[in-house]
Amino acid sequence: MVFKKELLPNALYIHIPFCARKCSYCDFNSFVSESKTIDLYLHAIEKELCSLKDKYVFKTVFIGGGTPSVLTETQLEKLLSAIIRYIPISEVQEYTVEANPGTLTEDKVRVLKECLVNRISLGVQSFQDKQLKFLGRIHSGADAKNTFALLRKTGFKNINIDLIFGCPEQSRDDWKSDLETAIGLCPEHISAYALTYEEGTLLTKDLRNGVINKLDELVELEMYKTTIDYLTHNGYNHYEISNFAKYGRECLHNLVYWNNMSYIGVGAGAYSFINGVRTSNEKDVIKYVNKVNNGENIKSFDEHLPQDQFASETVVMALRLRQGISNADFYKRFGIKIEDQFGEQINRLRGDGLIAYDNEMLKLTEKGLFIADTVMAEFL
Ligand code: SF4
Repeated sequence: MVFKKELLPNALYIHIPFCARKCSYCDFNSFVSESKTIDLYLHAIEKELCSLKDKYVFKTVFIGGGTPSVLTETQLEKLLSAIIRYIPISEVQEYTVEANPGTLTEDKVRVLKECLVNRISLGVQSFQDKQLKFLGRIHSGADAKNTFALLRKTGFKNINIDLIFGCPEQSRDDWKSDLETAIGLCPEHISAYALTYEEGTLLTKDLRNGVINKLDELVELEMYKTTIDYLTHNGYNHYEISNFAKYGRECLHNLVYWNNMSYIGVGAGAYSFINGVRTSNEKDVIKYVNKVNNGENIKSFDEHLPQDQFASETVVMALRLRQGISNADFYKRFGIKIEDQFGEQINRLRGDGLIAYDNEMLKLTEKGLFIADTVMAEFL
């Protein structure tokens, strides 16, 4: 297999691993920390950003977490000013910051706007207080609506709302109501994820101890189908398994991940992926800070993907997109046709009606969409 060298990464991710409180379902690299630790961390981030100066031109910047909006107004300003200092920001088309209702104030929203952020991803999860309480979120449904209104008032024209469905005790009507409220706000983008039970979370512990029961799988599937129906009928393009966007408002940054293209990650535990080489920064916040300050190697992990694995991962990620994967693009990247590596799987899955060709795009069928994980596992 011929491996074609890819372009330099043009997506930058910056990780802010701090939260006001740990949510019951969360297994992300995020902690509740003192302001002093956050200051030290931001100083280290600034140094790491400085090391990127003049090396890359990024089209997308995504500050995620954790909860970036947990930073104080001063901390937020320090971080965003460092980005302007070290990254050619005029080249950036999409500049996203993740924020949670309950942590955004008028002053913080003003700082985001003044520092050229042009997209906000709002962790709403639900508009219903009982679901929010179950998920361990710190905000109420009213907070979510107020924060959205504040962002609009300040001039943000590109907002994503994250929602979660499939909580135990959540009814079909509860979920429909959340979707209706979200649609009523007219965000440009909606991400709707099924609740997952991750190792090490409070939720999984409660499940094991019989404190809670999972929602019936068929009800969850019905909720997913309702999501697709409601959102597509209300002008949202279902462009990825869990993601829906108004025309032209697909998340450019996440498209880099789904197309398995190169990106750079900054901060504790952040992954980078450049031409088939995956690396990760030191995950522990204090160790990360110390290594940056001492000029030591901050990478704790690296993996050079063999070409066939790189190709497999590319197919799996791209099948998440409703448009699927282009045979021609795959050939350009890997110098081989998809069928030459995956002929057996493709024939079997096409026979079962789970994937299909649409012109030269290989994609999940509607039947395949509802068991996407099983279909994609065939390519690994
Ligand atoms: S706010 Fe987000 S990152 Fe923080 S604990 Fe909750 S789910 Fe995890």
